[in-house]
Amino acid sequence: MTRLMWFRTDLRVHDNPALLHSRRDNDEATVAVTFVTEEQWRQHHLGDRRINLMHEAINRLHKRLQDLGIPLLTIRKNTFNDSVSALHDLIDEFGFSELNFNIEYEINERHRDIGMAKWCRERNVGVNKFHDQCVIPPGKLKTQNDDPYRVYSPFRKAWLKAMADQIGAPCPAPERQDMRTISHDIKEVWKARHWLPEWYEDEHWKADEDVAHDKLHEFLESDVLHYHEWRDIPDMDATSRMSFYLATGLISPRQCIYTAWQRNACILSGGEQGIDSWINELVWREFYRHLLVAYPELCKHQTFREDYANVPWRSSEKDFDRWCKGETGYPIIDAAMRQLLEQGWMHNRLRMIVAMFLTKHLLIDWRWGEKYFSQHLVDADLASNNGGWQWSASTGADGAPYFRIFNPITQSEKFDVKGNFIAMYIPELGGLKAKDRHFPSPDQRSRCQYPSPIVEHKTARERALNTFKNLTS
Ligand code: FAD
Repeated sequence: MTRLMWFRTDLRVHDNPALLHSRRDNDEATVAVTFVTEEQWRQHHLGDRRINLMHEAINRLHKRLQDLGIPLLTIRKNTFNDSVSALHDLIDEFGFSELNFNIEYEINERHRDIGMAKWCRERNVGVNKFHDQCVIPPGKLKTQNDDPYRVYSPFRKAWLKAMADQIGAPCPAPERQDMRTISHDIKEVWKARHWLPEWYEDEHWKADEDVAHDKLHEFLESDVLHYHEWRDIPDMDATSRMSFYLATGLISPRQCIYTAWQRNACILSGGEQGIDSWINELVWREFYRHLLVAYPELCKHQTFREDYANVPWRSSEKDFDRWCKGETGYPIIDAAMRQLLEQGWMHNRLRMIVAMFLTKHLLIDWRWGEKYFSQHLVDADLASNNGGWQWSASTGADGAPYFRIFNPITQSEKFDVKGNFIAMYIPELGGLKAKDRHFPSPDQRSRCQYPSPIVEHKTARERALNTFKNLTS
């Protein structure tokens, strides 16, 4: 008998509970399968860069599994439905004894997995599912009224209490499998159907498990100690950049939090300020995942707060286009949007500033921004992206109050004091004095060929305040 390991967004061999379970003993052999479902991924708004990086991650996983004696079959299909049919065929063809996978929480993924598990059970094929995307599985933390948490602070308190400063160590990679234990038929078919996506290399990102670990350790060796002071300064590059590795499953949240916990004298809170603060951000990530499972309508991009479901958003394609291209005439916004296009990543402070600008100053639907981010971010992740956008638009579970509207000029002066970040991404403004880069004069704009502001801050702010006020009155 042979077990089947199904890889999805868990493209790693360390701390992969489903993989380790599959290789729990040598009684039965394990082979692995994964699907490249580009059409489905694009329906979920993933962009070229992220998809190419997933290809690279699969290529590297294939090599890593080869070293562990576990053959990986990569199958190209359009949609999840197609991949499920292919999986049925594969299980029928080889009579696998069990199917092992780590749970994905998004709604289409959950429906796919529920259907797959039912199909397996009807055929007496064992199904083993594991939580690897959160340290505390969604649904485990409830308020005293047995409801899901809707506010971050009490969620964090409950999360810390449940952890009680204990965190289980990440699990190791499985031991190498003797390939001779795999049946000849399976080996031949895995060889005959061998296909791997085209090799891809990105200028800024390497979709590799070892690189993820090196970067984590490098960050936790030094910058983390200043994280609480530097995390909001975009030109310092002082955050971990773990989001891409977490979104693709090249690293697990347990590996991140456990390593931080070790570095923090084995406590999760009340230790080094920088480490506490970094762990706090990972708990935000958990919060948004718990919310997504408790409120699956979020996966359909519904507004969390019903009282804000009918904001009369402006459908200005023209303004949206200027925001997307980084041509709003507000330097910090434009620099941030250009960072997104260049790196496939944007600093968290800037994500908040540009999201608030789109939804408040331009009064454009947060869903437009959410989709655009997803198409361009290498760390695109439904739960965190939706959480971040609904926070900024004030429509979310624990969103910013609608009257707290960031002023893009003062945010720029505060977090990009010397205008270095602006100069990095808008070189045409680099010749201006630092103080002038935050909001150049009309004369400076025309000299630098930099656009005039798309809206006037005060007027746009008033418009947003009135729009939201009218909803609640
Ligand atoms: P660090 O500062 O080093 O933080 C460590 C980890 O904590 C991150 O890797 C991430 O997993 C988690 N984290 C940090 N901040 C947040 C946060 N505010 N919410 C949830 N988790 C957080 N994050 C994504 O991973 N994918 C997204 O698609 C995404 N979209 C966002 C959209 C908006 C509008 C906003 C405001 C935030 C979004 N975030 C998203 C959250 C956050 O901006 C990124 O996780 C962070 O900037 C990634 O950089 P880092 O890995 O260096 O983070």
